[in-house]
Amino acid sequence: MQRLQHLQQHVAPGAAAEEENWLSAERRASLEEAPSGLRLTLHDSMEELPMDAPGKTWARINIPYSDNRAGWGTKFVPACLVNGDQPGQSALLMAGNHGDEYETEIALMKLARDVDPATVVGRLIIIPVLSMDAAHAFARCWPEGSGSEGTNFNRAFPGAPDGDTAGLLAHYISHVLFPDVDVVFDLHTGGNSMAMFPCAHMHLLPDDEQRNAMLESMLAFLTDTVFIYMDVRHTITLGVRVAFF
Ligand SMILES: [Zn+2]
Repeated sequence: MQRLQHLQQHVAPGAAAEEENWLSAERRASLEEAPSGLRLTLHDSMEELPMDAPGKTWARINIPYSDNRAGWGTKFVPACLVNGDQPGQSALLMAGNHGDEYETEIALMKLARDVDPATVVGRLIIIPVLSMDAAHAFARCWPEGSGSEGTNFNRAFPGAPDGDTAGLLAHYISHVLFPDVDVVFDLHTGGNSMAMFPCAHMHLLPDDEQRNAMLESMLAFLTDTVFIYMDVRHTITLGVRVAFF
């Protein structure tokens, strides 16, 4: 009876005014920041993971998903959050943007496994496999995409809070994770169509400060070759300038 009265109270006209009884202020704020509803949680529960959790924590991003197997299903994107013993800048490292570029996924899985928070200055957010489905399928474009060729996740940004799996994840990454970090590394290789030699890439952006910071980050990889992309209308890569050192 008590439960019924509680429910009636919240479905009554004007119940919206009572909404604070349903959601804590912190939870409401986190939902407003991430309107897609995606969250970073512990890897084995739905408990939300604060970004400043000390040490190394295995985590996952939860994506609501509905198909013929489950109406209220969830897709999990594995992640590893590392807050170093010393404060500093923060970096997001991602792999598996294209599911057939497995070297990048292995590299970040090794990094996540081996990294010792005692040696880290600042924060690392490591996402070794952006799409488990694409990785399992060895597919450049994600099989869960709506097009006949799947979704090219690299073209899904900035995403949409009401998009498909790729759109939701892109929205979460660009609206929640990007603002939280100083630098983003998105690791690629040639996939099943190309053989790539070690190289670092960046896009030319109009903001001088950001462009210089990107240049510095790119050169920090100490590769013999770098690629610089020029974009047209934010969607088409028109030209690539390759520099050899
Ligand atoms: Zn790629």
